Amino acid sequence: MGQKLSIKKLELQGKKALIRVDFNVPMENGQITDDTRIRAALPTIQYALDQGAAVILLSHLGRPKGPSPELSLAPCAKRLSELLKRPVEMAPNCHGQAVAEKAAALKPGQLLMLENLRFHPGEEHPEQEPDFVAGLADLRDVYIDDAFGCAHRPHASIVPITTFFPGKAAAGLLLEKEIAYLGATLADPKRPFYAILGGSKVSTKFKVIEALMKKADVLLIGGGMAYTFLKVQGFAIGDSLFEPEYEGVAREILDVGQQSRCRIILPTDIVITQKIEKGAPSKVVDVKAGIPPGFEGVDIGPKTILAYDKELQNAATIFWNGPLGVFECPPFDRGTFQIAQTLAESSATTIVGGGDSAAAIEMAGFTDSISHISTGGGAALEYIEFGTLPGIEALSDMPIATLKLV
Ligand code: AMP
Repeated sequence: MGQKLSIKKLELQGKKALIRVDFNVPMENGQITDDTRIRAALPTIQYALDQGAAVILLSHLGRPKGPSPELSLAPCAKRLSELLKRPVEMAPNCHGQAVAEKAAALKPGQLLMLENLRFHPGEEHPEQEPDFVAGLADLRDVYIDDAFGCAHRPHASIVPITTFFPGKAAAGLLLEKEIAYLGATLADPKRPFYAILGGSKVSTKFKVIEALMKKADVLLIGGGMAYTFLKVQGFAIGDSLFEPEYEGVAREILDVGQQSRCRIILPTDIVITQKIEKGAPSKVVDVKAGIPPGFEGVDIGPKTILAYDKELQNAATIFWNGPLGVFECPPFDRGTFQIAQTLAESSATTIVGGGDSAAAIEMAGFTDSISHISTGGGAALEYIEFGTLPGIEALSDMPIATLKLV
């Protein structure tokens, strides 16, 4: 991937800046329950305002099938207005005459938030509705992408829109930070580099495991996916999560691990239960003793926690994605929270790849002790796997004159 144009290289004074943000925040009964993604976009929005731009914000929220009031971005505009301490006007729609008029009337220092882009089918199917993206592009002078969590999707406001801004489609500050940590830091990590991977399935994570095996010195595995690996090694796994069609993949990963310099470490003891339910009775078994029928593994056991913790004391770089147990269901959250604490106390560069692991860090109150928490779960994993993402590739290249010559 070549170096992409930065917002810092854009002329913004007196311009209308279209900024694609990721305000896809969790909501309950019309209330935002976690505004992390809105806060994460503040530096870019504030920078554009400080440089004298008028700002038009684009985002999606949820998965609406056409306009639906409960997925309006109005609560996000309100929250943003509180955080910025200035008005944020909410547009009545994400396209059409009324939106164009409001955008045209916008003055430097003012903000307009368009309604949920997914209220229009053109956002997710730009090839079927080319007028939608042309209408968005018509609203402004420059385009800035700060929506890392959506950069793996070729949607209208992420990829096709950039073709309307030759030389003026730039990365926002959040996107640049994500690229710096997940790209540069992990491509040339301080060693030893430890990767911790959890989550439910081998099927959704094996590609990122393979990518990390080429970069990491040690891979610590936990969560539901561990059981397919343990079964391949001949251990009894009872009723634990198991993907028979991925046995071959798991075996190959373990074989490659034996020949590569990346050590793969699996749990040696497991918390098991007969029922995944808050407070359900549980016990700890050694992996060698096996999990009896009728029981399933729901967390890494205390010996494994200690062993993983001891390993991580050596790390200079740590990447973590995926819970190590059913962390939504205490007491099966112990392994996940213990690892979160280990990362928070570590002097290594610590990078958390979004999703549930980011949620666990936040729930435990460790957010400020982590070097970087990615705002994109799926996007972070795809970025590690492929080394770039469609939304990053689509941005303008940095002009040669501004690149440092080596
Ligand atoms: P993922 O989206 O693949 O990162 O998976 C996250 C989900 O994996 C969470 O909802 C966890 O509850 C679940 N999970 C983690 N460990 C286990 C386990 N041992 N058994 C079942 N589900 C698990």
